[in-house]
Amino acid sequence: MSSFDVVIIGSGPGGYVSAIRCAQLGFKTAIVEKYNALGGTCLNVGCIPSKALLASSHHYSEIAHFADHGIEVSGEVKINLEKMIARKQAVVDQTVGGINYLMDKNKITVFNGLGSFVDATHIAVAKADGTSETIEAKYTVIATGSKPSSLPFIKIDKERIITSTEALALKEVPKHLVIIGGGVIGIELGQVYLRLGAQVSVVEFMDRIIPGMDASLSKELTKVLKKQGMKFYVSHKVKSVERNGDAVVVVQAENAKGETITLEGDYSLVSVGRRPYTDGLNADKAGVKISDRGQVEVNDHLQTNVSNIYAIGDVVRGAMLAHKAEEEGTMVAEIIAGQKPHIDYNLIPGVVYTWPEVAAVGQTEEQVKASGTEYKVGSFPFKALGRARASGDLDGFVKIIADAKTDEVLGVHMIGARTADLIAEAVTAMEFKASAEDISRMSHAHPTFAEAVKEAALAATENRAIHV
Ligand SMILES: Cc1cc2nc3c(=O)[nH]c(=O)nc-3n(C[C@H](O)[C@H](O)[C@H](O)COP(=O)(O)OP(=O)(O)OC[C@H]3O[C@@H](n4cnc5c(N)ncnc54)[C@H](O)[C@@H]3O)c2cc1C
Repeated sequence: MSSFDVVIIGSGPGGYVSAIRCAQLGFKTAIVEKYNALGGTCLNVGCIPSKALLASSHHYSEIAHFADHGIEVSGEVKINLEKMIARKQAVVDQTVGGINYLMDKNKITVFNGLGSFVDATHIAVAKADGTSETIEAKYTVIATGSKPSSLPFIKIDKERIITSTEALALKEVPKHLVIIGGGVIGIELGQVYLRLGAQVSVVEFMDRIIPGMDASLSKELTKVLKKQGMKFYVSHKVKSVERNGDAVVVVQAENAKGETITLEGDYSLVSVGRRPYTDGLNADKAGVKISDRGQVEVNDHLQTNVSNIYAIGDVVRGAMLAHKAEEEGTMVAEIIAGQKPHIDYNLIPGVVYTWPEVAAVGQTEEQVKASGTEYKVGSFPFKALGRARASGDLDGFVKIIADAKTDEVLGVHMIGARTADLIAEAVTAMEFKASAEDISRMSHAHPTFAEAVKEAALAATENRAIHV
């Protein structure tokens, strides 16, 4: 029987990063993945393919603005969806290939098959050819991730009533895509198909889209997406989603007054969140506790109730984000090695990769208000920025929330061009407990979008923004 210091179950960004860190620390490491492709949700049906389609559709939507830049396109510009989806798949395949290379390079043994606990130190790997192999693990890291969730009355048929997985590989542009759930995944994929020519309607139970983020970001994103043609039905509870014949999907939803709306589309994307995934893992055979919400229960050290078994990523509590899973993967490896790593969960940024992009870190204004902390806010609109005018990306703003007494930055919320990258500055600043004035006194290259961060910091410091 093969025996390892650490066996990781699941090869998503949590699992594969953890495996590499374990190998770097000198552990004999194995990774078990039930699919043939490594990389998990993120690489195969999540972050990477969605960003590939967002990029392709963004290029297409940009053509409408070429004329403003003095570029005349003659002839018809057409979408070749099949090619766009094939390119997305090529990007995925190349990225997955990169993980295979990294496993080889770090001498990590890869087992393809469903991993399930036999007991706390043995894992059976059931392979596609019907055979099974049992391996021994001194330590195990559960990194089995998540799957799309649904509502009890919705039957996902994967043809017309679909999840994000199918939405990443459609064979035609929907005429009318009805999206259930206005969270990050629904809005990103909605913008892809909106740009490609679909009518897109979003039904959201809460009173705003991207409800976990600062309300000002929801408001601005709604405004911009409405301008682009997306329709929103917020504060609407979906009551039924029915397939009517081959190509019609009927969604009914009710507002707070009890009024019912009926939306008829040809596809409905159900994006109401994701559920932790432990099917087939036989966690009970190792004695590992699963919570009522289906999450593997862990303590602050990501250790389960069984001392040699840890769990990370989407399958445990916290934000379902690839970079959160990666940080946890690293942390667990270092804990097993006897080190004392730490993650500040308040400083895990959240990003929506629409255009304009939306990005945030730290506390929202609603959270700061609720905490009773006295605070101040500085905002700066992109339209006042030279770089934004030069490129024609005028939507959005940067908003910095700082402690009124100490000036420490408590939260940074931004929507606009390239904010997915700009947020890294805010994370760095907050990791080092920067004050708004600290940021405002750092030189920011001109002309850049990053100047909006400096200006917002100036605004938060003493209302000293220069360019508004
Ligand atoms: C459409 C979409 C877009 C997204 N975009 C982003 C984004 O832009 N940025 C971001 O940060 N996050 C994004 N996410 C979320 C991100 O994909 C997840 O947070 C991330 O993949 C979680 O990583 P993980 O390692 O915990 O699990 P996963 O990536 O889900 O990987 C778990 C792996 O474990 C395997 N597995 C499960 N059970 C077993 C078993 N018993 N034996 C063997 N293998 C098993 C699974 O097959 C899977 O490969 C997106 C998600 C979706 C769906």
